[in-house]
Amino acid sequence: MATILDGKSLAAKLKEEIKAEVSLLKSGGTEPKLAVILVGDDPASHVYVRNKKRDCEDVGILSESITLPANTEKCELIDIIKSLNNDASVHGILVQLPLPHGLDGTEITQLIAPEKDVDAFSYYNVGRIMTGDYSFVPCTPAGCMELIKLSGISVEGKNCVVIGRSNIVGKPMAMLLMQANGTVTVCHSRTKNLAEITRGADILVSAIGKAGFVTGDMVKDGAVVIDVGINRGEDGKLCGDCDFDSCAAKASFITPVPGGVGPMTRVMLLKNTVNAAKVQGGKENA
Ligand code: NDP
Repeated sequence: MATILDGKSLAAKLKEEIKAEVSLLKSGGTEPKLAVILVGDDPASHVYVRNKKRDCEDVGILSESITLPANTEKCELIDIIKSLNNDASVHGILVQLPLPHGLDGTEITQLIAPEKDVDAFSYYNVGRIMTGDYSFVPCTPAGCMELIKLSGISVEGKNCVVIGRSNIVGKPMAMLLMQANGTVTVCHSRTKNLAEITRGADILVSAIGKAGFVTGDMVKDGAVVIDVGINRGEDGKLCGDCDFDSCAAKASFITPVPGGVGPMTRVMLLKNTVNAAKVQGGKENA
């Protein structure tokens, strides 16, 4: 039976470390601050933004939520981002996605100054991740890597399989595993013989968004299973992409949903904001 990778308690420990870092920064005259822009009425986005604000408060990061109506004009949003880019008291900026119809999330996030782009969605930061020379990593893959590292799991020389190739999870996850010297295969909806590939994985990361998609027969004995998916099961409960019981019976380590990757993702945003404050406060090279 697999050991559970307890993201919730690891994230709590990391939060304590970040809190100490924030207080050190403050004593040096830098007050880390995150600005979050929320456009529209999407209920899930409102919950995410509230959580971000609470996380910031927990560690002493200042936060500002800018809530705009769904019919906000593109030029208005652009002006707000420009003014935050020029505001030296703001170190991190993020635009909560998805944006309402008529606003292109990819286009809008490119407007955030790279040094304040704590979600690391801008092409500049994506390029830096590609070369291995980066300040920010998108929060979910960063959280997965931290979870793997803090659990003492080595990636070097391992066969790593990532299911999902999105720009915010699958692709950067593959890059990070490669930089950690894993041998990486990326799978997607057109992949043939998926189960054959996943059965070769020492480290299997699933980021699909389909409840119970990965079953125990797709998992190698002793594999590490990182379940990024957040879905509602037939019973209405939150669950991952992996059928927990059958995968846990085969794996050596497995992340639960909830309580695995999710809390680590949240804490990585705090870490990125602190890094941004350090860089902009001149304490580290960008
Ligand atoms: P996307 O929908 O952008 O990407 C899903 C990926 O899964 C695509 O690459 C798609 O392939 C692939 N896929 C879909 N069906 C299959 C299939 N049958 N076989 C193989 N691959 C398949 O999702 P995200 O990357 O944004 O998110 C993935 C999941 O992670 C979601 O459940 C999301 O809620 C969750 N998530 C969790 C976070 C956390 O903090 N824990 C944070 C972010 C996301 P193709 O490209 O061919 O379409």
